[in-house]
Amino acid sequence: MAERSKTDVLTTAGGSRPVASDVPAEMDARKSSRPRVIATEEAFATAEYLDTFLKVASNSPHEGIRYAAMHMTRPDVQKPLTDIEARLADMDAHGVDMHLLSLTSPGVQVFNADLATELAARCNDELVASIRQYPKRLCGLAAVAPQDAKRAAVEIERAIGHLGLNGIIINSHTNGEFLDDAKFFPIFEAAVKHRAPIYIHPTFPPPEMIKPFERYGMHGAIWGFAAECGLHAVRLVLGGVFDRFPDLQIVLGHMGEGLPYWLFRLDNMYVKTITHKNQPPGVVRLNRLPSEYIRSNFHLTTSGMFWNDVLEFAIKTMGIDRVIFAIDYPYETSKMATEFINNAPLSPADKALVLSRNAQKLFNIVDDNSYTTVAES
Ligand code: MN
Repeated sequence: MAERSKTDVLTTAGGSRPVASDVPAEMDARKSSRPRVIATEEAFATAEYLDTFLKVASNSPHEGIRYAAMHMTRPDVQKPLTDIEARLADMDAHGVDMHLLSLTSPGVQVFNADLATELAARCNDELVASIRQYPKRLCGLAAVAPQDAKRAAVEIERAIGHLGLNGIIINSHTNGEFLDDAKFFPIFEAAVKHRAPIYIHPTFPPPEMIKPFERYGMHGAIWGFAAECGLHAVRLVLGGVFDRFPDLQIVLGHMGEGLPYWLFRLDNMYVKTITHKNQPPGVVRLNRLPSEYIRSNFHLTTSGMFWNDVLEFAIKTMGIDRVIFAIDYPYETSKMATEFINNAPLSPADKALVLSRNAQKLFNIVDDNSYTTVAES
């Protein structure tokens, strides 16, 4: 990707960006030191997860799952997902202080409910063990199995309330079902109770949707992921989930799966839809406009979208407090991600928010500036 010139800067004047005001006093006292770098969409897997996934997936009738399995048999994918020491070495080499880990897509959502629920808990246990080994370098999101929403709520209670994980990872649809279905609401209730943000990471489009994506390799991250996950986010908004759970916070990667670009048209078409004589079935009357939920119930991360123009637009539309640094390790390189954010034309205060302060606040990551990376010197 071509590097943007220095003249292609983000403007901090004008627009509707809120002023960065919640940088604590202790940050000001260290103005000369670089901010911590926390990367927030960093995939991991346990050996048991990979084993189980590959067994189930290689016989799956679903094209997307077979494709994921093919990808995950590669040693150069397996090693960085499972090897903590290799991860730490990569972080050191690129000045990344901390990874917020999440179980790699498609997570446990491809298994039957019992296996998924039990495997999620064991993955969370292994994750917590790694974090306790490297508490200044690692934190993590709890995997849950939406296949059994009540037991998923119990796991949220355990993994966040008792084990101290930092939020929840859900790899988008579960067998073609999306979280706006009321049967999944116990998950939202538990998330709100524990102030746990839910990171919705894309997965392959469900069988009902995938056919037109199969040509040109479109079912994966090139386009299918954003189409599937953007759809999921819009379903939550238009389904009225945030009227029912106003405190729920959703995190989207890849700079919001296209959503920031759509705010005007979502509002415009929503108003037309609810005022039309012949409303399509299932239209929900919302308390607010779609864009208002996106600006107040979503955070975006930079994973795999290392482009200043999109960063600028995301900050303008969402506010500086809702844009968070992420790499998408190991599917993207830490080099490309850190070069992008280090050269992004942001003020030092804004950069500190994107690099770590926003993540610390949202994911309740304990502040710890005692760690200094090798790359800093
Ligand atoms: Mn990703």
